[in-house]
Amino acid sequence: MRDSAVVANLSPARQGPQHCPNASPDQQGHESLESIIIECDLYGLKQLRKGEILTSSSDRTPARPTLIMDADFNHRHNPIYNPPMDTDDFSARMLAWFDLHGRKNLPWQTERNPYRVWVSEIMLQQTQVTTVIPYFIRFMTRFPDVSSLAAARLDDVTAHWAGLGYYARARHLLLTAITLETQHDGEFPANLDTIQKLPGIGRSTAGAILSLGMNHRAAILDGNVKRVLCRFAGIEGWSGQASIDRQLWTLSEQLTPTIRVGDYNQAMMDLGAMVCTRSKPTCASCPLMAGCEAQTTARTHVIPAPRPKREMPTRRSFMLVLRNSNNEIFLETRPPTGIWASLKSLPEFDSLDGLKIWCAQRNINSTQMDVMPDRRHTFSHYHLNFTPVLCPVRAIHSVSENLHGGWFTSATMSSLPAPIRTLLAELDMEATRSTHLTIKS
Ligand code: SF4
Repeated sequence: MRDSAVVANLSPARQGPQHCPNASPDQQGHESLESIIIECDLYGLKQLRKGEILTSSSDRTPARPTLIMDADFNHRHNPIYNPPMDTDDFSARMLAWFDLHGRKNLPWQTERNPYRVWVSEIMLQQTQVTTVIPYFIRFMTRFPDVSSLAAARLDDVTAHWAGLGYYARARHLLLTAITLETQHDGEFPANLDTIQKLPGIGRSTAGAILSLGMNHRAAILDGNVKRVLCRFAGIEGWSGQASIDRQLWTLSEQLTPTIRVGDYNQAMMDLGAMVCTRSKPTCASCPLMAGCEAQTTARTHVIPAPRPKREMPTRRSFMLVLRNSNNEIFLETRPPTGIWASLKSLPEFDSLDGLKIWCAQRNINSTQMDVMPDRRHTFSHYHLNFTPVLCPVRAIHSVSENLHGGWFTSATMSSLPAPIRTLLAELDMEATRSTHLTIKS
C-alpha cells in the first residue's frame, strides 16, 4: 500500500522502479542497474538494504537486477522522508485550482502592496479570516501606510487591536513601522534576510511579504501550508518539531514556482483553509488528490500529528470592578510589557487581601463588595482564572486622589482586553436591567 502511495507523487514517466516492485529494469524502461540506483537516490531511497537489489547469479548471465521495494523500510529508517515530487506539475495544479476557486476579494488582496500584506499576515496569525476582516478595514482606515503607522501612539495602535489578542503583535507592528520609516525610507526591503530581522516578522511572513506583496520568489509555511504539505507528502510527526519543520521548509522551497508566485502561495493557504481542513478534508475536490500520501493511505485523520499535550499552568488573580454612582467603571492602563500590555483594564491583584488593602489605602469602603464567580481566560502558555470583585463607590470625591486611571462609561471605554470587555458588558446589561426593574416597581 505504501509503495503505491509513494509512486503516486511521480509523473507517469518516473514511476518505474516503484510502480512494479518485482519487474526487471528493462521491463520498467531502465537501461541499467546504475540507472535504478540513481533513481533510488533521487527518490530518497538510499537506505534500502544491499540485499534488496538482487542479481541473477545462477548462470552468471548478464545481470537482470530486480528491485524489491520496501518503502516501509525506508519510512522506518528514514523518518525525514523526502518523497519525490514533480514540482512543475504540483504548482500547475495549484494555480489552475486557484484560478477557479481561490480567494481573490479579501480586503488585503485589493490594492495589494507589501504594507497591506504584512498587516494582514500579522493579524491572521492565530486568528480566523472572518475575525480579521473588520479589524483590517478599521486599521487601514486609521493607518493606511507605513508613515501613518510609524507616527502613531502605541495606545492608538493597541486600541485598533483590542480584541484580537496576542498584543505583542501590535507593539511589533509599530516598532517595525518606525524601523522602516527611519531606516528604509518607509519601504520594505526586497530581501528575505533583512525583512526577517524586523520585529515580529518570521520567515513565513517575510516570504508572504516578498511573494504576495512584491511578486518575488519566496516560500511560505504557515499553518495551512504545513497541513497541506504534511498530508501530501505523508510526513508524520508534529510540525512544530525542528526536524519536521526543516523538512517542510525544504519541501516548500522546492515546490514554490518561479512564476505567479504570489498566486501560488495564496493558493496553498486557501487550499489549507478551504479544502485540506484540519478535520474532514474534502479530498474529492482537491487538486492534489492524485499523489496525496495521506489520502491514498487513509491517514488524513492522523496527519499532521497534533501538538503533544502539555499541562498548562494556571495563574490566579482578582479583578476589582469599582463602579461609581454614575455607573462609571474605574480603569487603569496596564504596563507596557506583559499580558494586555498598554491596554486599559481593571486593577488586578494576586489575592483578595491585597485587593482589600489597596481599597483601604484609597478610602474605598469594601464592606459592600460582591465576590463574583471565577472566570477563565486561556493564553497561549497558561490559563488565567480570575475572580471579578464588584465594589460600589457612592461618589468619586469620596475616593482618594491616589488613583492612576480614569472613570469610563460603556460608551467611552476602548482598548480593553476581550475577557474584560465581555465581563463589563455583562455587568452593564445587568445594571441596566435592575434599573428598569427599580423604576417599574
Ligand atoms: S487530497 Fe485531501 S489530504 Fe491530500 S492535500 Fe488534498 S485535501 Fe489534503
